[in-house]
Amino acid sequence: MPVYADLHLHTSASDGELRPSEIVSSARSIGLKAIAITDHDTLSGLPEAIASGKKNHISIIAGIEISAVYDPGTMHILGYFPAYPQGLEERLSFIQEARRKRCPLIIKRLNALGLSVTLDDVIAISRGGQIGRPHIAKAMINKGIAKNSAEAFSRYLAKGKPAYVEKEKMTIEDSISLIREYNGLVVLAHPFTLDLQPYELKLLIKHLKLLGLAGLEIIYPEHTRSQKRLYTSIAHNLNLFITGGTDYHGPGRNNVSIGDFGIEKPAYDYMIENFNT
Ligand code: AMP
Ligand code: ZN
Ligand code: FE
Ligand code: FE
Repeated sequence: MPVYADLHLHTSASDGELRPSEIVSSARSIGLKAIAITDHDTLSGLPEAIASGKKNHISIIAGIEISAVYDPGTMHILGYFPAYPQGLEERLSFIQEARRKRCPLIIKRLNALGLSVTLDDVIAISRGGQIGRPHIAKAMINKGIAKNSAEAFSRYLAKGKPAYVEKEKMTIEDSISLIREYNGLVVLAHPFTLDLQPYELKLLIKHLKLLGLAGLEIIYPEHTRSQKRLYTSIAHNLNLFITGGTDYHGPGRNNVSIGDFGIEKPAYDYMIENFNT
């Protein structure tokens, strides 16, 4: 069965390279029937995506990707909403502010390492969207400091590297309850980034379920076959639904295209039914 819906896409409203309308037309041209826009910490790409979805006859799910407090790995929580969650964007303003405060601190560290990246370079690249490390990586590539994004991250920007600066984040509990407050379905994004052993992962997901978790993102470019097997068995045991998507950030990133990963129609329909719960 072909992919029906790609449920993890970033636009220029955060650190994706394409505008929301470009994402929608690209999804339409490859035959997807539905997509979710899941920008980091913002819904601001959605009005354009929804308008473009109407013209292109493709369903747009309003989504969000929130980074939660978690160590030593990375926890991203996806929220999928039955309709545009009016009022949520304002509730996210403090994490958006945290992003704005973090970027100059990263640049200061890079400068202290003798690398000449400026805040203006990064702002120009972000084109008014939420600033993220990928924009800083791009500025570094433009300056010849790194040959690609992977190198910029592995040498400087990744957690534990010399220019890494922790971002103020929401707790796991607050992230989940905020999404629930707007009737969103809570999904754990790309579980492999939690960096846990199978038994630890099972315990954590069980705990997340008590807090309101409804699904696991299992169909994902970087998940190995054995990871997918493990996550699927956890999902079945805990009665969580399974989602998937590409985490697309643009044509030049990660060698993945819109629709390469995602869910089929029965899984999509099942998820939509869950919107009423
Ligand atoms: P930020 O929102 O600023 O914390 O940046 C997070 C984004 O950076 C992720 O969504 C990825 O797109 C990207 N990213 C994180 N780690 C890496 C890495 N090791 N290599 C390349 N991109 C990364
Ligand atoms: Zn991103
Ligand atoms: Fe993520
Ligand atoms: Fe993502």
